[in-house]
Amino acid sequence: MCIDTACGMGFCAEHAAIAAMVTAGHYRVAAVVAVRRDEHDRLWVLPPCGRCREFIVQIDSANIDAEIVLGPGLSRPLRELLPHHDWADPGPHAAADLPSA
Ligand SMILES: [Zn+2]
Repeated sequence: MCIDTACGMGFCAEHAAIAAMVTAGHYRVAAVVAVRRDEHDRLWVLPPCGRCREFIVQIDSANIDAEIVLGPGLSRPLRELLPHHDWADPGPHAAADLPSA
């Protein structure tokens, strides 16, 4: 289920699916394909938004290898869609390098 709202308070279907997985004790995602049916009964593939891509990885870092369906006959591993997702190491003197307020 996806709930769209004008002000961004809704949530994507990926969030609902992951919540159901976690409730059932599962954290690993093998593949993601989301579709939408339009008023002409046509199906459209909807790749996960950036927030969902990050959420999928934060649930289990191994999900970086999940296959993401982008369209008919087109998919990519999440790691290609979410490059440089690791937080950078601030280094040993990072706090000392911050300007004081
Ligand atoms: Zn999303």
